[in-house]
Amino acid sequence: MNATDEIISKNLEAVRERIAGACRRVGRNPAAVGLVAVTKYAQLDWARRLVGLGVTDLGENRPQQLVQRAGEIGGGVTWHLIGPLQRNKVRSILPIASLIHSVDSVRLLEAIERIAGELDLRPRVLLEVNLSGEEAKHGFQADELPGAWSEIEKLERTQVEGLMTMAAYSDNPEDARPVFARLRALRDQLQSQASPRIAAQLQHLSMGMTGDFEVAVEEGATMVRIGSALWLGLDEASIAHSPLSKGG
Ligand SMILES: *Cc1c(COP(=O)(O)O)cnc(C)c1O
Repeated sequence: MNATDEIISKNLEAVRERIAGACRRVGRNPAAVGLVAVTKYAQLDWARRLVGLGVTDLGENRPQQLVQRAGEIGGGVTWHLIGPLQRNKVRSILPIASLIHSVDSVRLLEAIERIAGELDLRPRVLLEVNLSGEEAKHGFQADELPGAWSEIEKLERTQVEGLMTMAAYSDNPEDARPVFARLRALRDQLQSQASPRIAAQLQHLSMGMTGDFEVAVEEGATMVRIGSALWLGLDEASIAHSPLSKGG
C-alpha cells in the first residue's frame, strides 16, 4: 500500500465504523446501509484506489463526468447518478448508471421511460424530494408526489425504488433529523397508497452526506452518499508524492 491507499483505507474504515455505530444505536443491521462513495471531488486516481479497496458503488453528480469516469475506470463499478439530470442527457446516462437518485419531475420520468423503451432497458430510479424548503434545491415538493402517483403507476420499464433527499447545509447534524424523518414518513405513506407491485419496489431512502450521515442512518437511510469524509487528508499526500512536487 502506498500513502494514498493508506489514507483512503483509514478514511473508509472510519466511515464504516461510524455507520455501524449509528446502526447499533437504533438496532439496525449495518448490512442494510449501502455506501455510495461520491467521487465528484476526487482525483481519478483516488477513485481507482477506492475501487481497489473493494468499494464498488460510486456516485457522481454530473452526468458527463459519470460517463467519462465510467469509461476511464472500466468494469466492476456500479454507478450512481446523484445530481440533476437534463432530459437531453438521459440517452447517454441510462446504459451506464445503475441507479439514478435524482429524478425530480414527472416529465423526466416520462423521458426515462420512453428512452428505456428505445434502448430496451429497465432503469432503476429514486425520486428526489425537496424537504428543506430551499428554492435552489432540486426535487419534487412533498405534496406533489401523491398527485403524481397515477403517472408513476403507469411506468412499465422504469422501477421507482425509493426516495432521495438532501438536507440544508448546517454545522449541526441534528438539524437534518426532521428532514430525514419526513422522507421516511413520506416513503411509508406512498407505500400505503401504491399498488402492491410498486409498494414492494419502494424500499430505498437515499439520505445522508459527510455532515449528517449518522443521523440519516438513525432515521432509516438505506443508502448514504459520502464524498468528503473519504478524501480527508488527501490533498497533501497527493502533492507530497506527486512527481511534480520534486521538480518544484
Ligand atoms: C456531493 C454530494 C454528496 C456528497 O457530499 P459530501 O458532503 O462530500 O459527503 C452527496 N449527495 C449529493 C447529491 C452530492 O451532490
